Amino acid sequence: MEVNEAVLKAKNAFPIWSSLSVEERIEYMKKLSELLEKEKADITEIIMKEVGKPEIEAETEVIDAQASINHYSNEILKVDTKKMEFDEEAFPDTEGYVEFVPFGVIGLITPWNYPLSLPIWTIVPALLAGNTIIFKPSEYSTEADKKINELLNKVLPDGVFNTVLGGDELGKELVKSEIDKLFFTGSVKAGKDIMKNIGIKPVSLELGGKDAFIVCEDADIDLTVKGLLWGATGNCGQVCVAAERVYVNKKIAEKFVKNLVKEAKGLKKGKDIGDMINEVQIKKVESHIKDAVSKGAKILCGGKGEGLFFEPTVLTNVSKEMKIMTEETFGPVIPVIVVESDEEAISFANNSKFGLGATIWSKDIERGRKIGKKLNVGMIWINDINLPFEGGDYWGGTKESGLVSSESKVMQCLKKKSFIIYKGKEKRGWWYPYGMPVLQDDKRRDNDGQGL
Ligand code: NAD
Repeated sequence: MEVNEAVLKAKNAFPIWSSLSVEERIEYMKKLSELLEKEKADITEIIMKEVGKPEIEAETEVIDAQASINHYSNEILKVDTKKMEFDEEAFPDTEGYVEFVPFGVIGLITPWNYPLSLPIWTIVPALLAGNTIIFKPSEYSTEADKKINELLNKVLPDGVFNTVLGGDELGKELVKSEIDKLFFTGSVKAGKDIMKNIGIKPVSLELGGKDAFIVCEDADIDLTVKGLLWGATGNCGQVCVAAERVYVNKKIAEKFVKNLVKEAKGLKKGKDIGDMINEVQIKKVESHIKDAVSKGAKILCGGKGEGLFFEPTVLTNVSKEMKIMTEETFGPVIPVIVVESDEEAISFANNSKFGLGATIWSKDIERGRKIGKKLNVGMIWINDINLPFEGGDYWGGTKESGLVSSESKVMQCLKKKSFIIYKGKEKRGWWYPYGMPVLQDDKRRDNDGQGL
């Protein structure tokens, strides 16, 4: 389908879809959840084949998608009109309120690293809010995303959900088209290009990261190593909130690194670690490792791959200006820097153009909270990593990692429309002819009532 054709279909479907009751739209989403259950095995296999995930990671995407449907079906019911108060004496007979209404046609552009669950984080709240959608998935996950399109179109009225397939040029076309709001998840490079092209349209940007992983001297080493290995090498490290920079306190650094290397060597190819998405990503990972080694870093394990598999890699003797500590690597690489104190870890962690997430590991939760308050990121985990709120609610980062929003996802899919209603029979005191100030004590107005 062409972008313009999709826009037209989505625009035509909007009036009917948006006029349904929320309960009716929830029923459609329930049907989607049932279809996901029925086709779980099939979808899992498609994801495994197409983006190289181990079975458990692929199946988790389906389970996560169903949890999102459940979550947003509850959240949408909480949306209510907001009553606004007027001073009865100054503005008699006045009613005011804000309604929350759908934007219209939502454009959604996504990456390949979570081909099902990530788009669903937006598709479901956007549909429940009454929007229609044009979906432009990654060119590297078209099979999985064709499946989403098939399932959604089995349950939804024609034109409500439309998919266009292609690469970045098609993405640009969608950005410039007559959509009413864009949700984009992807790289910083594409995010910057979108900001040049989008014009005056609301946009949500969820971009790349370089998350710090701070290990205090009182951390539970065993738990922390396990959290780090999963958080840095799960999905081959191709995760926006993967642990990409480790800052470990010098008092436990030696033991911590020894443990880390031992466990990293025990990860099983195929069962724990799948394949990377493509050669381009492998080359990027290799180039970051090469840059680090040329500047003095030591490879303690891994460092190479075979085909699309890349070994979990631990690097030490790392310094903060190496690419491995400054650029998003998006691979199963764990570079470790030893730090003197929490303050030094905080300062290193904040010294980054990214601001997506960060994790802190300490047996003292209050210490973790204090460190977390000083980190300039959108998401903090203490003794945990990459656990989203259900449906990816309140996900997002600061600085180059995106346009962090203080709104829930449902509210990001709605726009406000305010109503002010005058129920009096007399003209307002401040309308023509002038003479009477609005308020006797309103110092902002001249005596002749000529306003400010
Ligand atoms: P990418 O930016 O190359 O592509 C993402 C999507 O945008 C694709 O559909 C692509 O076709 C499209 N696209 C590319 N350039 C575009 C442009 N100029 N205009 C419009 N569309 C364009 O990213 P990727 O390699 O697919 O995904 C990996 C990136 O996504 C990483 O940086 C990762 O951190 C980020 N990501 C972020 C989050 C988050 O929530 N913050 C989640 C997942 C992935």
